[in-house]
Amino acid sequence: MAAAAGDMSADVVVVGAGPAGSAAAYHLATLGLDVLLLERHELGRDKVCGDGLTPTAVRELVAMGMDTSTWQRNQGLRVIGGGHQLHIPWPEQASLPAYGLARRRSDLDRDLAKHAVGAGAHLLTGVTVTAPVTSASGRVIGVQARPTPRVPEPGIQAPITVRAPLVMDAGGVSARLATAVGRSKDERKPLGVAVRAYFRSPRADDAWMESRLELWDGPAGRSDLLPGYGWIWSVGDGLVNVGLGAVSSTTAAASARGIDYRAVFNRWLGHVPEAWEFTPEHRVGRIGSAALPMAFNRKPHYADGLMLLGDAGGMVSPFNGEGIAQALASGRLAAEAAAQAAARSTAAGRELALSQYPAALQAQMGGYYTLGRIFVALIEHPEVMRLCTRYGLPRKRLMRLVAKLLSDGWERRGGDGIDHFIQLLTRMVPAA
Ligand SMILES: Cc1cc2nc3c(=O)[nH]c(=O)nc-3n(C[C@H](O)[C@H](O)[C@H](O)COP(=O)(O)OP(=O)(O)OC[C@H]3O[C@@H](n4cnc5c(N)ncnc54)[C@H](O)[C@@H]3O)c2cc1C
Repeated sequence: MAAAAGDMSADVVVVGAGPAGSAAAYHLATLGLDVLLLERHELGRDKVCGDGLTPTAVRELVAMGMDTSTWQRNQGLRVIGGGHQLHIPWPEQASLPAYGLARRRSDLDRDLAKHAVGAGAHLLTGVTVTAPVTSASGRVIGVQARPTPRVPEPGIQAPITVRAPLVMDAGGVSARLATAVGRSKDERKPLGVAVRAYFRSPRADDAWMESRLELWDGPAGRSDLLPGYGWIWSVGDGLVNVGLGAVSSTTAAASARGIDYRAVFNRWLGHVPEAWEFTPEHRVGRIGSAALPMAFNRKPHYADGLMLLGDAGGMVSPFNGEGIAQALASGRLAAEAAAQAAARSTAAGRELALSQYPAALQAQMGGYYTLGRIFVALIEHPEVMRLCTRYGLPRKRLMRLVAKLLSDGWERRGGDGIDHFIQLLTRMVPAA
């Protein structure tokens, strides 16, 4: 990385050290590129999240060589709804392990960023990226950044400009760079909202990820079922992450519903069995909520020197609100395309190589996310949600299919009959 007073340069600048940015920085450094990772907060900051890592996320962590041996493990899903309770273990599969993990985001994100630094990435924390630097033709050729106010020891003392032939926006749902160059959200895509809190609980050694399918928008049993679920799972150290998420098929549908999700959360907590001890005196920290950008709601994922990763590219799954696995995968795919581009000798060749990134995302998730949009449009009807919980849950084989579909735990090649069925479905629809 070259540096002059107030000016720096790198092969790639990555904005944001969440899962997407740190994964990209790790893979880029491993592939021999000079990468600068800029994060506006200090490492170890709190992040509103469910902290759940499905086997798909575990696979990405393994691909990064992360040591997860001390992290909280889980063995599958416990699904509760419509008077039924079902345990669905994570299956042992060719491409996926038979366990998931959970780790507080303050720890996960710190571990990932340090891992990227260990691989050779340069990390500056307390640095807020304020704008892209663009050429006369509108190509992104760097970023402007300044020290983040109130961070005690920011990585820079004064505003800087960083130049790079490739910039990655991994800045999460705010997607500041993408927005600045006019890549706005597609409001026809699904949008989620989620709320979470931590509790100290005597059941914090539970080995299952519990999903509760009955979220009411008013008094339980006498109001509508919301399209979403509540979750309870252990994150280790005696702590449980408890939350709920609901989804709408479009931004307009979300606005029309106009629900106070914190109120839904507080009501829902009242229906969770007392054995969990989710009482105010057992709560640790604040109740947080945030939006979930879904189904590729911001595109293109590459154009004019700027790639969008993770939440910045709207990669949260409309099926279950999971976004960490996708963020990690996007970091890996972006780095692979960047390394191929860096090895080309003409500008046209580099652009062709970079175009492999959106193509890889489409191949991996395009058809799957189109199915997700159909799924959301269906469960948005309270009656469909009611029928699914009442009549779907007792059917074990159906629920194995649903679990694979919802957790993105299906094999893209080979696999069993359920995998083949999902592969067929995703090929029958246009990519998202
Ligand atoms: C309540 C809730 C529960 C969730 N539960 C789960 C779950 O259980 N499992 C799961 O897989 N997903 C879950 N998600 C989704 C998941 O949190 C996101 O999909 C994931 O964090 C996306 O990672 P990312 O790296 O793209 O973005 P982020 O994690 O948001 O990281 C972006 C980073 O960029 C930094 N940044 C932003 N702007 C700038 C800037 N201008 N300059 C410098 N740095 C900047 C931020 O500080 C941040 O560190 C949940 C989300 C919510 C809201």
